[in-house]
Amino acid sequence: MKKNIPVASPALIGNEYKYVMDCMETEWISSIGKYIKSFEQKFAAFCQTKYALACANGTVALHLALMAHNVKTGDEIIIPTLTYVATANSIRYCNAYPVLVDVEPDTWNINPEKIKNKITNKTKGIIVVHLYGHPADMDPILEIAKKHNLFVIEDAAEAHGATYKNKIVGSIGNAGTFSFFGNKIITTGEGGMVVTSDEEVAQKVFLYKGQGVDPHRRYWFPIIGYNYRMTNIQAAIGLAQLENIEWHINKRKEVAKLYNKYLYELSDYLIFPVEKSWATNVYWMYTIILRDNVKMSRDHFMKELEDRGIETRPVFYPMHILPPYSNISNPDEFPVANWISSRGVNLPTHAKLSEEDIQYVCGCIKNLIKL
Ligand SMILES: *Cc1c(COP(=O)(O)O)cnc(C)c1O
Repeated sequence: MKKNIPVASPALIGNEYKYVMDCMETEWISSIGKYIKSFEQKFAAFCQTKYALACANGTVALHLALMAHNVKTGDEIIIPTLTYVATANSIRYCNAYPVLVDVEPDTWNINPEKIKNKITNKTKGIIVVHLYGHPADMDPILEIAKKHNLFVIEDAAEAHGATYKNKIVGSIGNAGTFSFFGNKIITTGEGGMVVTSDEEVAQKVFLYKGQGVDPHRRYWFPIIGYNYRMTNIQAAIGLAQLENIEWHINKRKEVAKLYNKYLYELSDYLIFPVEKSWATNVYWMYTIILRDNVKMSRDHFMKELEDRGIETRPVFYPMHILPPYSNISNPDEFPVANWISSRGVNLPTHAKLSEEDIQYVCGCIKNLIKL
C-alpha cells in the first residue's frame, strides 16, 4: 500500500491552541505581550544563558548577532561551506564576506584544522553551524578564536537542545542563534532567537531588533535599526512548544534509533549519522549518504522514494557552488562537502512518524539498493 510520508512536520501537541486563543481573546497580537517575555525567559533557562531575545526568524537572528559583534564593511567571517544559505547571507547583510571552510567527513561540521590557514588580518569571527542536529567540535574552535581574538557565533538553528561535553549548544560561544521555522525541532511558524550571556551583546541585539530606538527617549533613534521583532502570537506557539521540548527531542532520537536499527544491514551501502562520545545528536534531519557501490544516482534514488510516497530532501548545496558565493574560492578546496552534498539524502524526520512508517521507508530503501 502506498503511503504519504512528509520529510518534516510540526507537532502542535500541547498548549499551542490555548495560548494562541488567549492572544486573540485579549487582543495582544502584536510584538508586545506576556508570551514574548515568558518564551524568552524560559528559552534562556533552557539554553543556560543569561539572555534570550526573540526575533522574526533564524536569518535575522544571525544578522542581529553579527551586528551586536560590530561586524562592518570588508570584515571576513569564517563559516563551513556546507550549511543553509542564511549563514552566508547574514554576513553579506553587514557588507562583510564569508570565508568558506570544508567540513569533517563524520560529523559534517566545520573542520577546525582547516580554519587556521583561512585567518587574515580582516577576520573578525567564526560562525559555527551544528548541522542536522550534531554539535561541531567546539574546543579546538574556541582555542583558535581565543588565540586570534575572534568571536564565535553558534548557528544552532538545527540543534535545539543538542549538547557538547554536557554544555547545551548556543551557550558555548559568544552568542547562539536559533530558528523556529515550521520544519525545525520546535516551531513558532516563523521565528528566531539570539541567546548570550554577554550583557553588552544582549543590549545591542535588543536595540537593533527594535528599530534602534533609545531605551530612555521615545522616538529618538541614535542608530539605523531594524524591525526584526517576533509577535506575541508566535511566542505563544513557541512557549507551548518549549514546554514539551524534551518530548520533541526524544521523539527524534527514537526515530533515529529506529532508522539505525532497520537500515543497519545496509552498512556496506550507506553512511549513517554519527553521535560522537562528546556529543548528543538531536537529529533535526536523519541523513544518509549513498556510498559509491550504490549504482543509482542520488537524484534517481530520491525520485524512486517519491514514487513510493516518501518525501526526502537532498543535502544542501555547499555555499561555494551557489552563484552569489561561487567566485570566492576554488571548489577543489572542499572535497568532503562536495561528496556529502552530491550523495546525501535527508530522510523523513519528525515527531509524528510511527515505527510502521519508518519500517516502510527502510523497506523501500532496501528494495531499491539491492535491486
Ligand atoms: C533554518 C536555518 C536558518 C534560518 O532560519 P529561518 O528561520 O528560516 O530564517 C539558519 N541557519 C541554518 C543552519 C538553518 O538550518
